[in-house]
Amino acid sequence: MTSARDMSSPHSSHDVSKHPDTTADVIIVGAGPAGSTAAVYLARSGVDVLLLEKSVFPRDKVCGDGLTPRGVKQVLALGVDVSGDDWLRNKGLRVVGGGTSLELPWPVLQDYPDFGLVRPRRDFDQMLADMAVKAGARLHVGTNVTGPIKDERTGRVVGAQARTDAGPVSFHAPLVIAADGVSARMALGMGINKRDDRPLGVAVRRYYNAPAKTNDDYLESHLELWDRSNAADPKLLPGYGWIFGLGDGTVNVGLGMLNSSKAFGKTDYRKLLRTWLDGTPEEWGLREENAIGGIGGAGLPMGFNRTPHYTDGLVLLGDAGGSVNPFNGEGIAYAMESAALASEYVLQALGRPEGASREAALHGYAAAMKDHLGSYYRLGGMFSTLIGKPSIMKTATRLGLPRKRLMYLVLKLLAGLYDSRDGDWADKVVRSLTKVVPSV
Ligand SMILES: Cc1cc2nc3c(=O)[nH]c(=O)nc-3n(C[C@H](O)[C@H](O)[C@H](O)COP(=O)(O)OP(=O)(O)OC[C@H]3O[C@@H](n4cnc5c(N)ncnc54)[C@H](O)[C@@H]3O)c2cc1C
Repeated sequence: MTSARDMSSPHSSHDVSKHPDTTADVIIVGAGPAGSTAAVYLARSGVDVLLLEKSVFPRDKVCGDGLTPRGVKQVLALGVDVSGDDWLRNKGLRVVGGGTSLELPWPVLQDYPDFGLVRPRRDFDQMLADMAVKAGARLHVGTNVTGPIKDERTGRVVGAQARTDAGPVSFHAPLVIAADGVSARMALGMGINKRDDRPLGVAVRRYYNAPAKTNDDYLESHLELWDRSNAADPKLLPGYGWIFGLGDGTVNVGLGMLNSSKAFGKTDYRKLLRTWLDGTPEEWGLREENAIGGIGGAGLPMGFNRTPHYTDGLVLLGDAGGSVNPFNGEGIAYAMESAALASEYVLQALGRPEGASREAALHGYAAAMKDHLGSYYRLGGMFSTLIGKPSIMKTATRLGLPRKRLMYLVLKLLAGLYDSRDGDWADKVVRSLTKVVPSV
C-alpha cells in the first residue's frame, strides 16, 4: 500500500487536490489501532487527515492479538463485520493457577458485548488502516516521523518532521495527534516524559504451530508460570502468561511482568518464556520445533504513564499516552477508546476559530480521559503494586480462584467489564470502588 491521496472521502469538506500532500487539517502519527481509529472517525466527518506510518502494511506488531469484549465494542463501533472466518470468537477467560483452572464467561452487559475476538495484528492493523483510507484519510507509509515541528514564537506543534526513502519531508497541520505507540517520539519531542509513579510492564510473545490449542473458545491466562525442568523440584517463576488460539492451527503465547515485581528489568524474558513453555504438557506442542518466527517483546505503558494528554497542539492517544490497563495489560481497547473520545473533541475544536475556545475544547479531551479512566487506572496501579509481590499473589490465587462469586467480581474489575448504570451487584461494587478512589 502506498499513499492514498487519491482516495479522499466524498464527505470531505476539503478539496484534497488543492492541498499539497504535506498539509492537512489534522496529522496523525502512527497507524496502529489508536491512529487508524481516529483517522476513520475524523475522515468520516469530513476532516482532511494525513496518517503517517513508519512501516509498510502488512506488518507485524508484537501483541497477544486478543480482544476482550471491551475491545470488541470498539471494533463494532467502527462498523466492522466480525462474523467472518478472519475472527476467532471466544466466550470468556480461563484462569489457570493455584493448581486449578476456572472458566469465566464474559458477562452479559448493557455496555459491552458478551464475546471476545482474536485476530493477528498483522491483519487487524491493516484492516483498520484500510478503513481509514476508505473513509478519506491520506495514508503515507514508510514515513518515519522524527519529531514535532514547533512554531518558533509560541512553541506550539504545527507539524511533524519525517524521514522517507525519498528524503526528509515536513508535514504541517494546525493540530497533530500522536498515536505512535510506546516509543512516543512526538510526546518526547515536546518534553512529555514517562512518569515513573505509574505502572509499567514488559511482555514477550511468540507464535507456535499448536493444533491442540488453536481452536480454544476461551482466552487462557496463566497466573503462575512454573519451571518444571527438574520435575522433582518445580520452581515458581515471576510473571503471568497467556495462550491465545488463533483458529488456524497456530497460537499466540506470551508472558508479561510488571515493574512492581522484583525481577523486572533483571530477567531474560525470552529465556523465561522458553523455560515456562518447556514445562507445559508435551501434547500442547509449545516446543522449539513448532515455533514460528522469533520471540518479540515490547513495553506496556500503563495507567496513564504519559500525561498531559493534550498540550500545545499535540493530542496523545493509546500507548503514546500510557493508556494500557494496569489490571490486565490490555491496550487495544483503550487505544481505540482514546481515539473515539479524542475525535469528538477534535471535531469540536476544528469547528471553532483558532484561539482560546479551540484550546479549551482540546483540553476537554484530556479532562474527559481522566473522567473516563482516571479512577479505574488509579485502582489498577494499586492492584499492580500488590500483585508484584509473589506472596500476596500466591495467597490471592489460592483463596480467590475456588470462589466463583468472587472471581465473577474480579473478572469485571480486571477486564473493565461493568455497566456504567444499572447492572448487578458486581457492577455496583466496581462502580463504587471507582467513585471512592480519586482519579490519577
Ligand atoms: C507482548 C505484548 C502483548 C500484548 N497483548 C495484547 C493483547 O492481547 N490485547 C490487547 O488489547 N493489547 C495487548 N498488548 C498491548 C497493545 O499491543 C497496545 O496497547 C496497542 O497496540 C496500542 O495501540 P496504539 O495504536 O496506541 O500503538 P501501536 O499499536 O504501537 O501503534 C503505533 C503505530 O505507530 C507507528 N509508529 C511508531 N513510531 C512512529 C514514528 N516515529 N513515525 C511513524 N509511525 C510510527 C508504529 O509503526 C505503529 O504502527 C500487548 C502488548 C505487548 C507488548
